[in-house]
Amino acid sequence: MSAAAAAAPEPSFRHSVDIMFNRAVSLMDLSPGLEEKIRVCNATYTVRFGVRLRGRVHTFTGYRSVHSEHMEPVKGGIRFAQSVNQDEVEALAALMTFKCALVEAPFGGSKGGLCIDPRQWEEDELERITRRFAFELIKRDLIHPSQNVPAPDMGTGEREMAWIADQYRRMNTTDIDSPACVTGKPLDAGGILGRVEATGRGVQYALREFFRHPEDVAWANMTGGLSGKRVVVQGLGNVGYHAAKFLSEEDGAGVIAVAEHDGAIINDEGIDIEALRTHIAETGGVRGFAGGTYRADGHAALEMECDILIPAAMEGVINLSNADRVKARLIIEAANGPITAGADEILRKKGIVVIPDLYANAGGVTVSYFEWVKNLSHIRFGRMERRREEARHQLLLDELGGAGVNLSAEFQRKYLQGADELELVRSGLDDTMREAYQRMREVWRERQDVPDLRIAAYLCAIDKVAKSYRALGL
Ligand code: GLU
Repeated sequence: MSAAAAAAPEPSFRHSVDIMFNRAVSLMDLSPGLEEKIRVCNATYTVRFGVRLRGRVHTFTGYRSVHSEHMEPVKGGIRFAQSVNQDEVEALAALMTFKCALVEAPFGGSKGGLCIDPRQWEEDELERITRRFAFELIKRDLIHPSQNVPAPDMGTGEREMAWIADQYRRMNTTDIDSPACVTGKPLDAGGILGRVEATGRGVQYALREFFRHPEDVAWANMTGGLSGKRVVVQGLGNVGYHAAKFLSEEDGAGVIAVAEHDGAIINDEGIDIEALRTHIAETGGVRGFAGGTYRADGHAALEMECDILIPAAMEGVINLSNADRVKARLIIEAANGPITAGADEILRKKGIVVIPDLYANAGGVTVSYFEWVKNLSHIRFGRMERRREEARHQLLLDELGGAGVNLSAEFQRKYLQGADELELVRSGLDDTMREAYQRMREVWRERQDVPDLRIAAYLCAIDKVAKSYRALGL
């Protein structure tokens, strides 16, 4: 145990978020009453329900926590994991409030969770459990297009969201906006292109924006761009997989280690992420993967020498027990809360730059916002303007051709193409990630009293929430 760990016990996840919040508000001029109002979680609903399965009644415990209703609906995922508890759900709900405010997604913050190990149940059993949980939340308006809109999180995905949407529709047969009651649905159930990859894509866009600022790169003791950077990823779930895939396939970064629940794979030449993902799907873990060296102690990967560390699994993995051994130059928090408040202090003193969760993993909720807008407008993005755009581009190419200007076939093909839904989603996400980074870094760079990007992110977010509350007369 390090000296820091001996001196101060590790706070709970909820407390950790409060500590970070408190650090930020101590630099703001908020009235004490308003500060308290923004910090506290408005309500947490706990439900215990029974489902008859395998010949007996099983009782499940679930939560839906609403942190802040300064904007409605409130938004945030539903997590299925054995470790789900009230403290965790409330911490995650608070992070949703600040995340949405920072990236200007017009929602309050919420989060839900069900204590369950999804791998222990067959698909039809999981469907019954999910529908029953959804029923309990829907009847209390804790799932509702204008009140509370869940999305996927750890242990849930498109399939669960489709069940929830269908459950809502069955209970609200005349609600024309019913698909907007949940996001992260499959495309054929009212989803949007690019949502599954959105959080990983957001991590990629966040890193690209970071590397557009040489001063910030220098702060992290690096030079140049993303190409050639050595990356370590912890957790190859939906977020970690997409981030690792895009960074290695599109930006020339090398993923030199991937840590998973059963160990880590290390390869200095760079890991083939697609092949590793296939191996995990087939065998249930990374052990036995031929494209790298296996290490049983997966957590050691967090302490490897590298340029960029991407914790993409769950909260608290970088804590008082290992923070002083972390050697990455830059950490981007793809998961929610992977660095505890105590570890955050240690990393800052070591000069490690952290791109904080409320910004780094906001890609998911950003594309959820686009999906919700699509559902409410009942039309897919690009449907009205795509061909019109193409016709105008054709007009210009014809005119240039007539004037004898020689344009390559490749240029003409690319230029002619009007934007479809996926391109528009990516453009909206890229814009959101760039703008939010710039707002955050301005505060970080311009204010002497702001020590890092996390405090800057909280400052931007809390300021937005405070303005909403003031506008409401609080
Ligand atoms: N669960 C994701 C998160 O933590 C997505 C939330 C959403 O799309 O509402 O940000």
